[in-house]
Amino acid sequence: MDSKRIESLVLSFIRELGEDPKREGLMKTPERVAKSYKKLFGGYREDPTKLLTVFNSEAYDEMIIARDIDFYSTCEHHLLPFFGKVWIGYIPDQKIIGLSKLPRLVEIFSRRMQNQERLTKQIADTLNDLLKPRGVGVVVRAKHLCMLARGVEKQNCEISTSAFTGLFKKNIETRSEFLNLI
Ligand code: ZN
Repeated sequence: MDSKRIESLVLSFIRELGEDPKREGLMKTPERVAKSYKKLFGGYREDPTKLLTVFNSEAYDEMIIARDIDFYSTCEHHLLPFFGKVWIGYIPDQKIIGLSKLPRLVEIFSRRMQNQERLTKQIADTLNDLLKPRGVGVVVRAKHLCMLARGVEKQNCEISTSAFTGLFKKNIETRSEFLNLI
């Protein structure tokens, strides 16, 4: 991502809207937007499989849950933010990962142009591929600015998505246990 190029695109955009890019409040806006995009779209620069340190589970074989992971992402249809929380559960089979890595995983996939369904599935699939656990469950709840700000009906509507693999998919009791715990 070339910051200078982003800056000049934002400048054109400001002009196109009929604004004066030289007025005080807008002078540094292209620079600020380029800088914030570096963060908002920083997920492209990271490979989740390299980041996640895997440990031996030492025979721990019960469900592990990470609750209330905040995320901020950008809707790929409107380039507007969507944000909310992620819940991740998995049942290990020999391998576990450091708990702090779960929010990192969410961060890597949310800092991209996304849709909520894909974000949910990518988190579940990556954990599944990496740990080969007995099952993974991911639930994402989010509000989309493209719904709220554009005045689409159902103003306060929250979108909920989920992805399940292994026991979470096959076994209704496992899935209910997870859903009850979160
Ligand atoms: Zn949208």
